[in-house]
Amino acid sequence: MRLHFLLALPTLLSVAHACGGHVYATTSTSYTRRSTPGSLGKTVIEDVRVFNGLRMSAPRTVVIDQELISDSGDTEGATQTISGTGLFLIPGLIDSHVHVADFPNFSGHENLTSYGISTAMHMACHNYTICAMHKGVPGLTNILTAGVPAVGPGSAHSKTFPSQLVYPNSNPVELVDWTLGNGSDYYKITAEPNGPTQELQNAIVANLQTRGKQSMTHASTMLGYYQALASKTNGIQHIPDNGRLTKAMIQQILAQGQYVTPTMTIFYEAHVENPAVLQFLRGSTDPGNSTYMDVIKNVKALHAAGVPLLAGTDAVGALTPNVTIPFGLTLHQELQHLVYEVGMSAAEALNSATRVAAKYHGLEDRGVVKKGKRADLLLLRNDPLFDIANTLNIEKFWIGGREYTGPLKIA
Ligand SMILES: [Zn+2]
Repeated sequence: MRLHFLLALPTLLSVAHACGGHVYATTSTSYTRRSTPGSLGKTVIEDVRVFNGLRMSAPRTVVIDQELISDSGDTEGATQTISGTGLFLIPGLIDSHVHVADFPNFSGHENLTSYGISTAMHMACHNYTICAMHKGVPGLTNILTAGVPAVGPGSAHSKTFPSQLVYPNSNPVELVDWTLGNGSDYYKITAEPNGPTQELQNAIVANLQTRGKQSMTHASTMLGYYQALASKTNGIQHIPDNGRLTKAMIQQILAQGQYVTPTMTIFYEAHVENPAVLQFLRGSTDPGNSTYMDVIKNVKALHAAGVPLLAGTDAVGALTPNVTIPFGLTLHQELQHLVYEVGMSAAEALNSATRVAAKYHGLEDRGVVKKGKRADLLLLRNDPLFDIANTLNIEKFWIGGREYTGPLKIA
């Protein structure tokens, strides 16, 4: 059966002009995954150096018991023992901004897993049945999802999903009820010209906060940032490429306890790497007043001020023959942007994709290599603190205690 499927385009970064509607066609309706789920057991990794958020430890033992990390002395009854001599263990990586769960198959999801991504935040769900299919899959990346995003009529994003709009008189309580009632973990707001009114954004954020749920706001321009600051949304997605954040704005982000997922990767693709991406996002290869230098300077300023930065990519897979934002690989590239361009230390960059991401998403069960936490573990052949690009030298990978059995680094 040929299945025409709307891609999560509206939540892909849009700058001044987002492209119009896009229909993604696929012949695959198979829900079959490529790899078989690894089995649970007790795995002992001996003599491995472990990343503790600051540096690599002296060689030690790490024990995986079923889904969790156990006490290092708890080796009795091990079903497998692995020598970690010369190897490096870090927490599984968290991509805080992807669009992977709108596909009615596991291809992109499995690509994500193959690169050591143990958790991914799916930033817009347009089909709750398909999203549910991707959640809690044993041995694959753990997916959390936003619902249908709040998109305003007449906005750039509305051109793709005209039937899923919020109006100035929309009831924020009903919107949040519907979204959370469909299994969404958090709520996404798209701040842009003709987007949801400031009043509605504020009301949605406030309502979510009373329920202990997070809001995340798409803001790829200065205007979007002003709105995301005014609403006090939890997580600001993207970074302005059309101006510089002021000191006052950055101080407000800090004072309000907000975090930022800058997604440098998608801006780099658009402005530096592939004019087809810029064409796709803006409908033109003319960047107008937007530049990649604004992206770098803004992320640098946030980092210097101590704003929590989360690694995210906006990966969507293959959109057109000329536009592909691959799953998995891009998270490693994001870490490289954060180190090579922003000036983060390698440890800070790793934290942005592990413990910092887990903390700000309220995922207290993961993000660190510690007894009692989920056994999301990435075993590397080379030290990522020596060169952050070494995160790509993957030896083995476990998600929730299950070793990933498929080929690593599927593109
Ligand atoms: Zn996005």
